[in-house]
Amino acid sequence: MEVEWVVFDAVGTVIDPEPSVAHAYHLIGQEFGSRQTLEEVRSGFKSAFAETERQDRSPDTAGLVTSAAVEEARWRHIVAAVFPEVEDGEGCFQRLHDYFAEPAAWRVFDDTLPTLHSLSERGIRLAIASNFDHRLHPICDGIAELGSFEKRFISSELGFRKPSAEFYLAVVAGLNTAPERILMVGDGLENDVEGALSVGMKAVLIDRKLARNGHADVSGRPYGVIRSLSQLQGLLT
Ligand SMILES: [Mg+2]
Repeated sequence: MEVEWVVFDAVGTVIDPEPSVAHAYHLIGQEFGSRQTLEEVRSGFKSAFAETERQDRSPDTAGLVTSAAVEEARWRHIVAAVFPEVEDGEGCFQRLHDYFAEPAAWRVFDDTLPTLHSLSERGIRLAIASNFDHRLHPICDGIAELGSFEKRFISSELGFRKPSAEFYLAVVAGLNTAPERILMVGDGLENDVEGALSVGMKAVLIDRKLARNGHADVSGRPYGVIRSLSQLQGLLT
């Protein structure tokens, strides 16, 4: 059956923080008196982020229920864990939170615009589905390359995070078509691929670190693997 909609994950799939999250935290942390090195900040962020992801999976958080308040609390917790030494922790959190709502904090991958353009030309409709919060709106509004997404699905607005079936069922309902006519594309095996497959959508994993000559190997897998969005075209023919 033909694919009617292609739904893209946001971070790591069509956009990425530029400079890196660690660089941004490091610079803003310094403004608030932190004297940690870039490496210390990088490693602190990595473990704090991983810790909140683990909390998502614990049974006492009612699965993957979320809201704007839950997401804000998550980021406040991460900032506090990265910068325990910063006196004005709330100020530092607010500054970082606002920073990542700015389109200028993000770059669009080189393969994003050509891919969105050629899919649109073929009559395929485009949407974005993200665990990032409402800050995705000003980013999509402020980056011309992201203008072709007809629909935005944001977990803090839907009430459930990826990879829950609830999140993906809301996507299916919002696109008003059969799940097998929807292709989810993302860089997260669990969040993007497994979640989408669980409700009957098609899925493609983008692994930008695949060897240069690596290509889609779908043998034995219920999903495709690509190393560049430009390979999507070939998968859809
Ligand atoms: Mg991602």
